[in-house]
Amino acid sequence: MFEDGTMYLKGVGSRRAKMLEEIGIATCRDLLHFYPRRYLDHTTVSKVVELRNDGEATTVVGTIVVAGEVQGARRPRYEAIMVDEWNGRMKLLWFQGLTWIKRAFAPGDRVAFHGKVQLFRGEWSMTHPEFDKLDEEGPQLSTMRILALYPGGAKFQAVGLTSKTFRRIIHHLIKTRGWDIPQVLPPWIVSGFDLMDGRVALRAIHFPKSQPELDKARERLKFEELFFLQLLLRRIQAKRQLRQGIRLHSGGPKLSQFLRDSLPFTLTNDQARALQDIVRDVAEGRQMHRLLQGDVGSGKTVLAMAALLMAVDSGYQGAFMAPTEVLVEQQYSSLKKYLGPIGVEVRLLAGRQRKKEREQILDELASGAAHIVVGTHAVIQDKVKFNRLAMAVIDEQHRFGVRQRGSLLAKGRNPHTLLMTATPIPRSLALTRYGDLDISLIKELPAGRKPIHTRLLSEKRRGEMVKLVRDELAKGHQVYVVYPQVEESEKTDLKDAERGFMEWKSQCADYAVGLVHGRMLSDAKEEVMLRFKAGELHVLVATTVIEVGVDTPNATVIVIEHSERFGLSQLHQMRGRVGRGQAQSYCVFMADYRQSTEARERLRVLLETTDGFKISDEDLRIRGHGEFFGTRQSGLPDLRIADIVDDTPIIENANKAVKQLAVRDPLFAAEEHKAMRHYFETFFVAQLEGFARAG
Ligand code: ADP
Ligand code: MG
Repeated sequence: MFEDGTMYLKGVGSRRAKMLEEIGIATCRDLLHFYPRRYLDHTTVSKVVELRNDGEATTVVGTIVVAGEVQGARRPRYEAIMVDEWNGRMKLLWFQGLTWIKRAFAPGDRVAFHGKVQLFRGEWSMTHPEFDKLDEEGPQLSTMRILALYPGGAKFQAVGLTSKTFRRIIHHLIKTRGWDIPQVLPPWIVSGFDLMDGRVALRAIHFPKSQPELDKARERLKFEELFFLQLLLRRIQAKRQLRQGIRLHSGGPKLSQFLRDSLPFTLTNDQARALQDIVRDVAEGRQMHRLLQGDVGSGKTVLAMAALLMAVDSGYQGAFMAPTEVLVEQQYSSLKKYLGPIGVEVRLLAGRQRKKEREQILDELASGAAHIVVGTHAVIQDKVKFNRLAMAVIDEQHRFGVRQRGSLLAKGRNPHTLLMTATPIPRSLALTRYGDLDISLIKELPAGRKPIHTRLLSEKRRGEMVKLVRDELAKGHQVYVVYPQVEESEKTDLKDAERGFMEWKSQCADYAVGLVHGRMLSDAKEEVMLRFKAGELHVLVATTVIEVGVDTPNATVIVIEHSERFGLSQLHQMRGRVGRGQAQSYCVFMADYRQSTEARERLRVLLETTDGFKISDEDLRIRGHGEFFGTRQSGLPDLRIADIVDDTPIIENANKAVKQLAVRDPLFAAEEHKAMRHYFETFFVAQLEGFARAG
């Protein structure tokens, strides 16, 4: 159908077809789905004479009056002057890529430029703008139709892949073969969700007749993209559920004893519900793949222990992987404390261990004498062999890559997996990126916790923070003081923390102050952490090594220096180090008054709420989905037109459609689903193999 190459299209030819292939356009279908990046019309084009704001991203259109190379003081540059139809002048500057820019346009050409404008001595200019040659196309802007501009940096333009070229070849393709475009969504979805016809949408995305038409076209294509993505995730999930899993008892002696006798508290309702989810999964004889989401301090470790005990009670082994040594040590000590007394053999794999000790542990794991191992990614090394691994728990799962999680699973025969995260995943992301996992939520915190008081203080008010710290120390409580650690300049940051350490030592001479940072050996690190936990140290000066998981309920204050330098989730995690006991806790963000807008925004969110779910939503909104949870994305197709942040309603609708389809025709057997099935199998399921293996 549309799977033929582009070579025989009018205006393409073998040379251009090759260039197209280089940018990922191999077939006519790829070409149709190569969506414009921006549109030009009289509402999006600015008049130079009306420009006001230096630094604003702007689009202008005009005719080139002069263009040429200028010999600068140090190196040559290329300059052009453009005049728009309201007689405004704009200077365009290039310092790089002169060879191709020279050939890109000449005086007399009509060109659209897009970039940040600068004002210098009354003259507007843009440096390295994006541009599109318009030439003779269309009359004046005031009457101009909406013109599509395509992706493509300098490289494309230099070889003649301009927006104009794309418009021409796509126009021809649609004109000659538009009626053959397959209808991939069945009519009941199109009408049920009030979508534009697929053929019309593909024409309109490239050649919109009006803004409302373009909006409808975008909506339709976003829906389509999100629909197939979610369908794919469902397919991955369904395939996994067909896999044989290890049937485990959930009523075994050790688990019962743990829940009845070892735990000093009863489970919260949410914990109990999550436990039931796990019990149901492992009893069914299929492989569990569950994501446990619970805010900091909500008590996920208890569930990890319960899941591991299900394996032990059934004669199998469990593994517990966490991202940092500090966290691993701590999890190890809680596991030993709770599970040791009921006869469970828990082992630690840590960097500080001697070879002999380590080898013994490896032997015990291989023979089955050890029941549970706790470790960092050390547990996925080749040397680690299990006798019968049935349960893999991964704490702070987003810190691990897809591949690392996969390697742990490969150590058993379809072991159950419990992924845990304290960074809640916003629903839109959960649907589009984690839709293949079963999810349990712990929203509620154990009873008796008091909300943490959070304050933001400038340097001038440092005294108030010091007073708070001294007051809390006087009550017998403990304090964390955190300094940022920026990877590129670890040395200077260390100096920050070290300087802070000296200062606190003199400020609180009557108390014991400790220092822990990422460059310490793990032995030393652990010793400091344990002394803090035991109450021998009152103030712990730290870098972000304490970010996740550290649990010392007697600590009631956390001071975060240079809080403007941390990310939102990170700040939330660190705040979660306090508020773990019965006493009132405090979090103080010290911040430079010269914060960026984004930093101010982050701190505002944290002052307003302690709800991790709200914080994640905001984090996603501020950062955009690209930077949020990078690792999971590998293996899934990228979104080309939809946006996880802005298109939440469409995500929800597409999800509804996927669910309705599952009820209506789970095997896509109906005639009306033939085209959809073909499209799905050919372009999405084909990508599934690699992904399913990893996850
Ligand atoms: P996180 O979800 O952040 O990993 P943890 O598992 O470290 O939380 O638990 C935080 C603290 O809450 C621990 O000190 C733990 O013993 C305690 N805790 C967990 N569940 C309960 C409960 N149901 N009632 C009271 N305290 C609990
Ligand atoms: Mg935890």
